[in-house]
Amino acid sequence: MLKLDLHASGRHFLQVPGPSPVPDRILRAISLPTIDHRGPEFAALGRQLLADLRTLFNTQHPVIIYPASGTGAWEAALSNTLSPGDQVLMYETGHFAALWARMAQRLGLITQILHWQGDDPLLPAAPGWRHGISAPLIEEQLRTDPQHRIKAVCVVHNETSTGVTSDIAAVRRALDAAKHPALLMVDTVSGLASIDYRHDEWGVDVSISSSQKGLMLPPGISFNALSPRSLAASKTARLPRSYWSWDEMLEINQSGYFPYTPATNLLYGLAESLDMLREEGLQAVFARHRRWAEAVRRAITSWGLPIQCADPALYSPVSTGVVLPAGIDADAVRATIHQRFDLSLGMGLGKVKGRVFRIGHLGYSNDLTVIAALSACEMGLSLAGIELSGSGVASALQYFAAHPGPHAALA
Ligand code: PLP
Repeated sequence: MLKLDLHASGRHFLQVPGPSPVPDRILRAISLPTIDHRGPEFAALGRQLLADLRTLFNTQHPVIIYPASGTGAWEAALSNTLSPGDQVLMYETGHFAALWARMAQRLGLITQILHWQGDDPLLPAAPGWRHGISAPLIEEQLRTDPQHRIKAVCVVHNETSTGVTSDIAAVRRALDAAKHPALLMVDTVSGLASIDYRHDEWGVDVSISSSQKGLMLPPGISFNALSPRSLAASKTARLPRSYWSWDEMLEINQSGYFPYTPATNLLYGLAESLDMLREEGLQAVFARHRRWAEAVRRAITSWGLPIQCADPALYSPVSTGVVLPAGIDADAVRATIHQRFDLSLGMGLGKVKGRVFRIGHLGYSNDLTVIAALSACEMGLSLAGIELSGSGVASALQYFAAHPGPHAALA
């Protein structure tokens, strides 16, 4: 039996920006006996899931499910549509955008990487990691490519590493304004099912997502949502691929089956998750994420600490980065909070390691789990000797009390 170093009583508070806490309903669904994935019952499950996922992505086109984490779905998106030596335009909004670009280089693609232009005294090592995508910069870059050598524009919808969202519809408009035929690929790993997402309306060619964020599932399955243009590109793309190949997957998915063994029990969980999201209504789901995010930001502001995202219009409803005073090790603060209060926070990733921590406020949470996270942060920051200008917890409590959530109406 696996032995985890868990605290003696109560539940651990998982406040990282994914994996998010898994609801009991989903855990129960996952615990059902594994069935034959080539048997008759499986086909109905497969067909239902593939149809319901289209609704979630807001698309009429096929969605593919991989037994892999989000990183696998990144690779699937690139390898199905591109050829060795193709140019891709990427935009470094944070650590995940940077990792996706590194993957593209490893696969033999030529990356052009755009950044936010400017200095940032708060996080000088990562000046662009407080900002969203500049669509005009993308348009400008595409206009310098009249021969259409750039084959894809790759962007991240919700940069989980920074707590900054980007306007995907504006990126689409930039491609259209430049009259550029590059495919638009969007990582919505931490956006889907927490923030409004419209694959077809925004003209996205491949959307990438995975299970462990807004879908409230354990890690282990991920998605590609396709478009007619990305499907057409896959017919001629020459990057090597086998496990990730869309063609075999799409053919057998028509009957509800998969070309290789799917993650059957996670698919039970996915069915339950999609039911839960439908029962609640996506607009209510998005509203409660925005509300928690607002309470978290009010708390950070009351502490007198900077929010990592520099643009209020782009604050993430899913996660918020807190920048600590220079000389304080954010990882040490997180470790104290974990040890003393049994609460996990997201670490500062890559270029901002040790400078920030991230509060996840997504998925199966509620006002009081958010308050618990803020309480643990407040105690941990004080234990680290940081002088706070006020009580963030008190501000968040006031905000929640004055702004009832969508569920208060049901009472
Ligand atoms: N993209 C984003 C925005 C993410 O937040 C993550 C993981 O947190 C990934 C990609 C990578 O996904 P995974 O860790 O599931 O492979």
